Amino acid sequence: MRLVFLGAPGAGKGTQAELVASKFHRPRISTGDILREAVRNKTALGLEAKACMDQGKLVPDAVVVGIVKEKLAEPVCAAGFLLDGFPRTVPQAEALSNILDSRRQRLDRVINVLVSREDIVRRLSGRRSCAKCQAVFHVDFARPQRDGVCDRCGGELIQRSDDRREIVENRLAVYEVQTAPLIDYYRRKGLLSELDGSGSVEAVHQRMVGLLTAQGLS
Ligand code: AMP
Repeated sequence: MRLVFLGAPGAGKGTQAELVASKFHRPRISTGDILREAVRNKTALGLEAKACMDQGKLVPDAVVVGIVKEKLAEPVCAAGFLLDGFPRTVPQAEALSNILDSRRQRLDRVINVLVSREDIVRRLSGRRSCAKCQAVFHVDFARPQRDGVCDRCGGELIQRSDDRREIVENRLAVYEVQTAPLIDYYRRKGLLSELDGSGSVEAVHQRMVGLLTAQGLS
């Protein structure tokens, strides 16, 4: 199972990728999570990425391609993987194709999670994540048991700095220009499946499992 999850920021691809990863026991590779960890740890990578991320811009292709190349070489990825948030540009997609070719592997499917712009803004503005374990909640749709406190580890729930409204606008604009062309790119390769991302997390997950099963990927 080698999958790519595509979708606008806030489409829910991270949440869905995590559910698929745990159901099918495949690693989820989220370039956003890897970069945020590097920023928290103030590594050289983190220092380079922070300025771009704070403005809602993309980190340079060479940086993220290097991260993914390293990850895919790990033994845990041998039986498959789920890429969440990568590729985000056509050059990244081409680099991924080269990496997989050199490993004699290929992508099985690219799943484009579709949601309305209205839903995206609602989801992103209410999203909160744990400062300690990064678990994700939502002030309306996935409320923690105690306001502001992580159910999983008791850590403080905070808003991602790039989920602020003005940065969200930038991220959506960047998505339209740089990432949306990947939809056609993968459609032309016959790899694209569209998934309706509206409704509850569970409803979308059920649709996702149905789609993967229909593709013989379960
Ligand atoms: P995400 O958590 O996937 O929404 O990513 C958060 C931020 O990390 C993005 O707004 C970018 O600044 C950066 N980022 C994550 N993945 C990539 C990627 N594949 N290419 C470039 N920048 C990325």
